[in-house]
Amino acid sequence: MTARWVMLVLLLVGCRGAGTAASARPVPAPRLVLISLDGFRADYLDRPGARHLRALAARGVRAERMIPAFPSKTFPNHYTLVTGLTPEHHGIVANAMTDPLLGTFKLSDQQAQWEPRWWGGEPIWVTAERQGRRAASYFWPGSEAPIGGKRITWWKAYEHETPHETRVRQVLEWLALPDSQAPAVITLYFSATDDAGHRYGPQAPETDVAITRVDSAVGAVVDGIARLGLRDAVHVLVVADHGMTEVSRDRLIVLDDYLDLGTVDVIDWTPVAAIQPRAGDEERVYRALRDRHPHLHVYRKGEVPARYHFNAHPRITPIVAVADEGWTITSRAYLARQTPPGAVSGAAHGYDPALPSMGAVFVAAGPGLARGVRVPPFRNIHVYPLMAHLLGLRAAPSDGSLDSVRHFLRR
Ligand code: AMP
Ligand code: ZN
Ligand code: ZN
Repeated sequence: MTARWVMLVLLLVGCRGAGTAASARPVPAPRLVLISLDGFRADYLDRPGARHLRALAARGVRAERMIPAFPSKTFPNHYTLVTGLTPEHHGIVANAMTDPLLGTFKLSDQQAQWEPRWWGGEPIWVTAERQGRRAASYFWPGSEAPIGGKRITWWKAYEHETPHETRVRQVLEWLALPDSQAPAVITLYFSATDDAGHRYGPQAPETDVAITRVDSAVGAVVDGIARLGLRDAVHVLVVADHGMTEVSRDRLIVLDDYLDLGTVDVIDWTPVAAIQPRAGDEERVYRALRDRHPHLHVYRKGEVPARYHFNAHPRITPIVAVADEGWTITSRAYLARQTPPGAVSGAAHGYDPALPSMGAVFVAAGPGLARGVRVPPFRNIHVYPLMAHLLGLRAAPSDGSLDSVRHFLRR
């Protein structure tokens, strides 16, 4: 009897000591790697090259597709994924935009990447750093700016050509750091599927090559995590920003057929044209474009359909024109510059997020996630609260909710 009591006391002391006693191995805090495969359409998961992704899905969660935010472009959606906010709330309303105070924003403009005032809301890496955890990024829109006065511990200035191996090696080095130093959140980004998709189209063999390449990179991260013995501590979330759909020279909407382009600024072109008329000229421009082309939907600011969630922000222009799937908004001057003149080919995105072709991949696995589960389409605003929950962080207010993705969690 006495011996059993001694055993019980020893066991209890042992349990309480876990995580604090120097001799006991502390319980590792949960971590997460968020990997973006730009333009990896949801159905690419069933292409032959995506075998590592399917293996990850088999022991985790796979969505039929993830519904992007409007417009289904790279910057708005990457920033929605990490903040849980729609573009009208986080302020990255396009890949190209203007702001009365800040000037113009372009992907290629490093000044804009580093200017925190473009980037609203609280990205997951700031949530982590504010709550005493660290974060690292091998590329992500917003990761180069000190948002909310907080700079991410490790970050890289964007370089399109950095080899995949270099990116993966660095991520595995971050993961190998001792628990007390390792980043809780790591972001990693690859553009190969977007590059090939635009150029050759979603069904092209070149796009299959890109699928295989990014899938191998994901496989290398997953294998590296297993080799480090971290499979029960690290979640891997693989996402895309949007899908891809074919365009054609037979589906053109030429704006100067309806409007003298000398009278407006077209800040972003296709498939969502952001049109800034001169002050007082808004109604004339609206009337010149409205109902002129059967595949172009023209809205005044404030009248964009509610399901697009695209009205509130000052950076949204007075007129927003949205093309139907597969249509391109362009100008005579642009077409004349193409070789051969008039050529429009390949594929694009930016269209209505509800279109299956705009659906993004979502595959995730890790200790807090359900195993072998397929979930119906869901909006990408819910990824931020999901990540905060998996990391044990208090989420900042967002447009997403954990309740919408609770079925992703392990019971
Ligand atoms: P999109 O056509 O909207 O899919 O934009 C894709 C392009 O965004 C890619 O080709 C990348 O070169 C570019 N891009 C992605 N991430 C970044 C970044 N963090 N900084 C600058 N450019 C980026
Ligand atoms: Zn993209
Ligand atoms: Zn793209």
